[in-house]
Amino acid sequence: MNMTPTEAWADMVAGNTRFVDGDPAHPHQDVRRRADLASFQTPSAALFGCSDSRLAAEIIFDKGLGDLFVIRNAGQVTGQSIMGSLEYAVEVLGVPLIVVLAHDECGAVRAAIDSVDPDSPLLPPNIWRQISSIVPAVRRARLELSEKGEDPEGVSSWRVGQLHLRDTITSILQSSELISDAIAEGRLGIVGANYRLAEGTVVPDVVLGLEAPVASA
Ligand SMILES: [Zn+2]
Repeated sequence: MNMTPTEAWADMVAGNTRFVDGDPAHPHQDVRRRADLASFQTPSAALFGCSDSRLAAEIIFDKGLGDLFVIRNAGQVTGQSIMGSLEYAVEVLGVPLIVVLAHDECGAVRAAIDSVDPDSPLLPPNIWRQISSIVPAVRRARLELSEKGEDPEGVSSWRVGQLHLRDTITSILQSSELISDAIAEGRLGIVGANYRLAEGTVVPDVVLGLEAPVASA
């Protein structure tokens, strides 16, 4: 396929537009495609997103078999296995694009917001470990409100999700020389985007390594 980062993102936007318009092409989902791909894969993007059941990657970007290398966990929280999978996608599979996909009304973000309330019940340890990476974004969002003289209790999950998405991109870049080098060399783009559940739209927030800003769907 050998797309450039910019072409790969344009292809993602086009698929999301078809999905939003209710006119999906359902590409690459037939027996022929399955057979063609039996011995190799050349996905055009790696997608790291929340596990939320409404964020089904191939559906919302109108893609099929062999198109996306997908990594998901609750709240799209980075860690060693995530970085290993992303580096594999970039270095071995040669994907020209990483999409980090957050969404509104995220349960993991909500749990992180609730966890800073001293009256909130303790979370089971594995769930706490999963969402604890989102807590710094909660604290910054609360601080922003305090500095404006507003009640930090009124922190919005939208703002926390946005700060967490930006933290996630920063963490990916800081923890992987392989990925930051690929971006610097023009081989890789990275887009941090928010998915709107009701509309089905993917709205970019952080865009790195693309030739020019690409309009959202
Ligand atoms: Zn979520």
